[in-house]
Amino acid sequence: TFQVTSETEGGEPKIIGQVISLKNITKFHELNEAKTNFIATISHELKTPISAIKMSLKLLEDNRVGIMNEEQKDLVNHIKEDTSRLLKITGELLDLSQVETGNIQLNFQTIKPVDIVNYALEAVQVPASLKGVTIDLKLEDKLPEVCADTEKTAWVLVNFLTNAIRYSPERSTVNLKLVRKNDAVEFSVKDLGKGIDAQYLEKIFDRYFQVPSDLNSKGGTGLGLAISKDFIQAQHGQIWAESEPGMGSTFHFTLPVMKIPKEGII
Ligand code: ADP
Repeated sequence: TFQVTSETEGGEPKIIGQVISLKNITKFHELNEAKTNFIATISHELKTPISAIKMSLKLLEDNRVGIMNEEQKDLVNHIKEDTSRLLKITGELLDLSQVETGNIQLNFQTIKPVDIVNYALEAVQVPASLKGVTIDLKLEDKLPEVCADTEKTAWVLVNFLTNAIRYSPERSTVNLKLVRKNDAVEFSVKDLGKGIDAQYLEKIFDRYFQVPSDLNSKGGTGLGLAISKDFIQAQHGQIWAESEPGMGSTFHFTLPVMKIPKEGII
């Protein structure tokens, strides 16, 4: 709705009418839904052949079809890396379509925050050691249990940690810290990388957004943080980033603490 005003003699604007603009967006919603379903089908269909390529590569790697020379080993390693990247992208697209169709299935459990941490640390062991990055873990004493979906939360933490490792200098330290903040447990991942300009700090949580200088250079999709935001918000938590360009970035999320019912009240 727009208001139409005209100047009165005293120079004061006076409302003389309103214009209401109506647009039929049914078609837009239908197209958007079709796009989401298309993405879900394609990413699902792509997963099977990509997994098959990985299995064939494993056979080559294990010398089950003959011994490879160094050049061939090198090639196989490259194909392996690219295949893992493809699997990551298809996985993210599948998650995205679940989020967009409102199909995020959360499996809430009462869990110890350290269980989420262990799950995630195991997943990033290889990329961290390849880059010589040490992950320094600090857990506050007596952290309460949280009510969360372990897998989805670990996915978010893995995403924070892989980004931190990716943007960190070699042989640097990434800090993972868990503290209690009022009725929540806060997880923070701090790196000593190049940081993020203030103007992009909120945008990086938008779908497909990548800091312009990272476009084409890191092979990402710009989906990881957007999906992380959906996963955390669906669990009633908060997610945000801070950064000092040139010094590093810190990514945070919170999860609500499991409320223990008072005696006599269920
Ligand atoms: P992807 O990493 O697949 O591009 P993300 O959604 O995880 O997608 O990240 C979006 C963008 O945010 C990245 O492309 C990068 O520009 C920026 N970013 C994320 N984490 C960091 C970090 N720890 N340090 C610097 N920039 C980061």
